[in-house]
Amino acid sequence: MAGLRILSVNAHPHDFTHHAGTLGIHTADGDAVTVVSMTGGASTHNQKLAEEMAKPQEHRNQETIDRINREYSNQKASELRTACGIFGIADVRILPYTDKLFTLEKNPDAVDALRDIILEVRPHIMITQSPYLTGDRGHKLGARDDHSETGFASIEARTLASIPRYEDVRPTHKIAATFFPGAYFDRTEWDFIVDVTDFFEKRVKAEATYLSQGHTPEWSRKRMEVSLGNAGWFSGTQYAEGFVQENPFLVSKINLPESVLRETEETESARHARMVGS
Ligand SMILES: [Zn+2]
Repeated sequence: MAGLRILSVNAHPHDFTHHAGTLGIHTADGDAVTVVSMTGGASTHNQKLAEEMAKPQEHRNQETIDRINREYSNQKASELRTACGIFGIADVRILPYTDKLFTLEKNPDAVDALRDIILEVRPHIMITQSPYLTGDRGHKLGARDDHSETGFASIEARTLASIPRYEDVRPTHKIAATFFPGAYFDRTEWDFIVDVTDFFEKRVKAEATYLSQGHTPEWSRKRMEVSLGNAGWFSGTQYAEGFVQENPFLVSKINLPESVLRETEETESARHARMVGS
């Protein structure tokens, strides 16, 4: 289906990168992508702030703390916009909530902020943080945190966007499908894997954009080789991004993707050549 609208909801400015290759494929196909970060990420990986806050209170300078936070938030925002631009994404929204800890309890209005975005963007697909804390698909961080709270907020917002609100003149909106980035799950829990081999260099470049998190070009390449390369290795391609699907789809019959049929027909050596890109 062409002309899809995709909404990517993330806790922090770096989180969208976990599925950025897939988003890039969609923007290249003419689909519309909106990226939301619930927080500016000012308290995450903020080394200067950590140093100031480690001082005894009487040696801390509130002005310094405010300045560090302001500068760091601005840097993070510009890194996110730059990284999104690499994948052809111009619609980037950074919501004003504070990270570490972002909770729905502290920020009950976050649900309505997301509902507003859903009613405006009217996405077919939402890719959001994993809300699973326990069970087979337990969030591997093991506890409620910025990511799972973002998952809860987006799912609640999705529900509320589909229900009429008397005072709201905007039409309600139903999102057709919700997915979670595989990065938060074991590989065995993934429902499908997107081949992002053509977007590998862009993923490396995006990773290296986050200077605020100390990402050097070498480190960025290594991280992508290991993470995207691992996903690719086990799914018979060079580089891949896994996803977990919230609900199974109703289909008219069993469909086999071309990639699955190809694997039954190609020789071992052809497969090896393909997996190393030669
Ligand atoms: Zn994060």
